[in-house]
Amino acid sequence: MIVVLHIHSDYSACSESHIDKIAQYCRQHDIKAIGLTDHDTIEGALRLQKEALDLKVIVGEEISTSHGEIVGLFLKEKIEPNQDLRETCLEIKKQGGVVYVPHPFDRLKVNRIRARHLREILDLVDVIEIYNSKISLAHYNTRAKRFADKHHKLGAVGSDSHYVASIGAALNIMEPFEGPQDFLEKLSRAEFKTGASSLLSTWWVRVRKSVKSKMKSFRGEMFS
Ligand SMILES: [Zn+2]
Ligand SMILES: [Zn+2]
Repeated sequence: MIVVLHIHSDYSACSESHIDKIAQYCRQHDIKAIGLTDHDTIEGALRLQKEALDLKVIVGEEISTSHGEIVGLFLKEKIEPNQDLRETCLEIKKQGGVVYVPHPFDRLKVNRIRARHLREILDLVDVIEIYNSKISLAHYNTRAKRFADKHHKLGAVGSDSHYVASIGAALNIMEPFEGPQDFLEKLSRAEFKTGASSLLSTWWVRVRKSVKSKMKSFRGEMFS
């Protein structure tokens, strides 16, 4: 089945993808499972899980930490941001979750985990994102893949989607799974399909969102 990972909804400040539209896209594109990973919240993922019963929703969070962003998959509760990186990974594990490292070597992403910090948490890492469709240079994905191979870590591909049309930018094609352990086992035999989505479009979403909210408050002032 087709699984998409590292998807943002409009519960993230930088994304405009509405939960309903995400579910609709998945149905139209035969996507059966989705890892929704908003920044520092699981609210959108919980909502999608409740509303889209035909979709397998992996509740995830892209958590800001002292040393960059880390993704927790299969979470039960929200993990507070801005804690120590290692503590955050331990918290993910305590919930029975999967520790997934997003865009590890992308120098343009200021919130990436630096290589030396990544080495310090390697014992807790389950999955390395070996392809991020929003990467600034293709070379950084190659480095991530090499790093994963060298350290015998599982790889997965992430759409890092911030608008609906880019949800399918990276596909993990794998056998159906039940729960985090089974997910990891099936991921080890997964096949990947990828295509780039442009950085510029994400930048454009940001601009559009801020214009929209400014217009709203402007109208609010006019009619109050
Ligand atoms: Zn990120
Ligand atoms: Zn992200």
